[in-house]
Amino acid sequence: MDSFHLVIDGKLVDGAQTMPVINPATEASIAHCPRADEVQLNAAVAAAKAAFPAWSGLPIEERRAGLIKVADEMEARLDELSRLLTAEQGKPLDKAVEEIAGSAFILRALANLDLPERTVQEDEKGRFVEQRYPLGVVAAITPWNFPISLLLVKVPPALLAGNTVVAKPAPTTPLTSLRIAEMFNRHLPAGVFNMIVDANDLGSALTAHPDVAKVSFTGSTATGKKVMASVSSLLKRITLELGGNDAAIVLDDVDPKEVAKNLFEGAMVNSGQVCLAIKRAYVHASQYDAVCDELAELARLAVVDEGTQQGAQYGPLQNKAQYDKVREMIAEAADHGRVIGGETLDRPGYFIRPAIVRDIDDDARIVREEQFGPVLPVLRYTELDDAIARANDTDQGLGGTVWAKDKARALDVAGRLETGMVWINSHMNINPFISMGGAKQSGMGQELGQSGLEEFTQRRLVFVPA
Ligand code: ADP
Repeated sequence: MDSFHLVIDGKLVDGAQTMPVINPATEASIAHCPRADEVQLNAAVAAAKAAFPAWSGLPIEERRAGLIKVADEMEARLDELSRLLTAEQGKPLDKAVEEIAGSAFILRALANLDLPERTVQEDEKGRFVEQRYPLGVVAAITPWNFPISLLLVKVPPALLAGNTVVAKPAPTTPLTSLRIAEMFNRHLPAGVFNMIVDANDLGSALTAHPDVAKVSFTGSTATGKKVMASVSSLLKRITLELGGNDAAIVLDDVDPKEVAKNLFEGAMVNSGQVCLAIKRAYVHASQYDAVCDELAELARLAVVDEGTQQGAQYGPLQNKAQYDKVREMIAEAADHGRVIGGETLDRPGYFIRPAIVRDIDDDARIVREEQFGPVLPVLRYTELDDAIARANDTDQGLGGTVWAKDKARALDVAGRLETGMVWINSHMNINPFISMGGAKQSGMGQELGQSGLEEFTQRRLVFVPA
């Protein structure tokens, strides 16, 4: 495989060390990736700091034009980027194509947002004008489940607003991100976009760096809390997109076959490694057996294979640590309920077949904690109030779904869920123009849309006398 470099101050540089990147479908090393040390981290932040005055001083149209060129190049290199993403992340190739093409679309859409000055109030004494100005150096830290989409939710608004960026991908999925970093570097002035790679050891040095003004982080709730602690002494701005334990509430009037298909997709998408995946399903007792039977059949039919194989629906878990954790959670779930599926494959690779856990109690770990894998616990309820209370009985509050023929009842249920978003009879209906963010310990702040852009700015209110 071709070589990979860190991007620091407009240059492609070798890491202080290298580290292997593993294909999770084969467990073979696919590339040696540069690994930065703290000196290189500091150089990246210094470059971003130095590039900030000129970049933030450009008209927004010039910054936008640079970003659009990156979207163009991503689209032109769709095949190469998608193959690389499948090789390091594991997802089926068609899903990798969707991620890369979708990310280019998000990039283009977000680059076309604007930050106009706006009059907030005007009377005979004068007017209040709202302005938005950039913060400085932004640290963008991303996880391994959607390495590119999650990067391109952060970087375009950060840069469009006039900030400069130091990005850090997850150590197990750095390669496609490094290719995209090269593109930003090619189309933008030196130092505006920098990328370093670590072995999970530089995150806190980056977030705590005194010249980093804002941290935009997507990852686990546990690490999100560390990020928040590390920025507290300087009161830095943060946006946190963290874990979820999203409930699906299935009412008594559904078609079990249709709803099971939707629940299955919502739970197993990306092998369950999605913050917004359906992590628990509460199904009315009158539908419970029928829905569980359909889910079990879908689990049996699912095609789990290496992402490059034609027809593969689900790839491996992305890394060994996650594979071990999910296997352990499935084994534990068997003590609390009936597990259907969930077998590993007898070959190299971190493959786990989709699992349904039925007749399980609320106290099981697989219900209480985010599994982040292809396992769906299905819980029974008789009273809707009880299902809603159980769905809300968690520290997490990312998303949720309600499934019902009666949309008015569904909307009533949606209005009682303590989450940042709820979809009725659909799942992950996301677009770059709609801002989103989690409730409770699922996050802080918003991404996408105008609010997502404004999170990379400071609001300045100016009073102009009449
Ligand atoms: P996981 O536990 O599944 O690896 P994390 O939330 O820890 O998920 O990882 C998400 C991103 O956060 C990765 O890029 C990771 O390297 C980074 N990271 C890990 N530890 C820290 C930290 N203390 N501060 C900032 N980022 C971190």
